[in-house]
Amino acid sequence: MAHEHKIITVDDSSTMRRIIKNTLTKLGFSNILEAANGVEGLDVLAKNSDVDMIITDWNMPEMDGLTFVKTVRSKDEYKETPILMVTTEAAKEDILTALRSGVNNYVVKPFTPDTLQEKVNKLLGI
Ligand SMILES: [Mg+2]
Repeated sequence: MAHEHKIITVDDSSTMRRIIKNTLTKLGFSNILEAANGVEGLDVLAKNSDVDMIITDWNMPEMDGLTFVKTVRSKDEYKETPILMVTTEAAKEDILTALRSGVNNYVVKPFTPDTLQEKVNKLLGI
């Protein structure tokens, strides 16, 4: 099944970006943007106001995921955009911190393609 949604994956690990991109491609998503940290992510978003979902790492240089999410949420055009955090930070307190900063859902690394699919589809309502 092909999906028109535009998704951005923000992660400082190019390997992780490739894994996420490959998984999404297999699920039928072909419009996937990439950024290596929060600063790059904001830059890509500024040039693509039609992004349907953001998938972001937590630990990144330049600008970490929490700061990135808070900055994104402070902008009117991204108040409702689904944000999925994919991270190794799995403690309950970390998850709460992420949710409080504006993240909609959470995937702990390492994850299975099924888990990513479930969360992505849920957030996009498909
Ligand atoms: Mg990282």
